[in-house]
Amino acid sequence: MIEKIAQIRLQAFREFEEAKSLQEAEAARNKYLGRKGAIADLFRHMPGIPPEERPEAGEALNRLRAELEVVAETAREKFAQKKEAPQIDTTLPGRMPHLGALHPLTIVTRQIIDIFRQMGFAVASGPEIETVYYNFDALNTPPWHPSRDESATLYLPNGFVLRTETSPVQIRVMEAMQPPVRIIAPGRVYRRDRPDATHSPMFHQVEGLYVDEGVTMADLKGTLVAFYRTLFGEQTAVRFRPHFFPFTEPSAEVDITCLFCAGKGCRICKEAGWIEMGGSGMVDPNVLDGVGYDSEKYTGWACGLGIERVAMFLYGIDNIRSLYDGDVRFLRQFI
Ligand SMILES: [Zn+2]
Repeated sequence: MIEKIAQIRLQAFREFEEAKSLQEAEAARNKYLGRKGAIADLFRHMPGIPPEERPEAGEALNRLRAELEVVAETAREKFAQKKEAPQIDTTLPGRMPHLGALHPLTIVTRQIIDIFRQMGFAVASGPEIETVYYNFDALNTPPWHPSRDESATLYLPNGFVLRTETSPVQIRVMEAMQPPVRIIAPGRVYRRDRPDATHSPMFHQVEGLYVDEGVTMADLKGTLVAFYRTLFGEQTAVRFRPHFFPFTEPSAEVDITCLFCAGKGCRICKEAGWIEMGGSGMVDPNVLDGVGYDSEKYTGWACGLGIERVAMFLYGIDNIRSLYDGDVRFLRQFI
């Protein structure tokens, strides 16, 4: 009997080991562990063996059954796992991970910063919630100026304003350091504007400021011509139109040749051949005196432009709201 058990043990182990599928493993389990299987058969023959051999044979048979149950379960798990494993088709093209992209406003802001940086300008920043002093008074804005009106500016209940320009940064920088000052200040600004295709109550500006001994309008023109030609191409012409801003004197609006018709006249430029890009001028002596600079010794220029406007021209975007919607189908184009 003991010999018989040992023989069946070897045979069963081999069969489980050689099983190549779940079906074959199940067949082996039935053959040895099933109700009519080999183990059950041996148990049935137990009464026929000599009584003195029974305890040993019974023990060996029980041990074999326990062993085979483990082997059968292991085989079942092995094949079950194989069946669930994902089917990999190595001929399919790979899946690219979804990468984020820079927002067009970030791309343009960085381009602008790079150009000014190459000309020796440092980047400065300031708070978006400003005092009336920094936003208007220090910039020489008279009390009657329409930009102070509640219909144009967003006032906060505690007497602060959401800055209407990045210009307050000029004041903060000049208060903190002596000339020469050569900075640009990119950032968000707020106006009480009804949103439409070209207006938004929040948009981005970049401001430039250069103050030193002997700075003239020629420096302003030279810097802006170099800037716009680097940004929009060598063929770009720049035109200065007299204007009024409280914090500069003289002041000028800056136009560039229309990017769409190269100055011939089209729908975008309203047949003018020029498009307005921003404001500029020589810093008003009152502003310099206000921050404690000697306006007899120092002169300077300031300029500003809207970043959305640049992005819309560069990328041919016709609705400013596309820049804020967060529509991935739109944003994916800038990857
Ligand atoms: Zn045009």
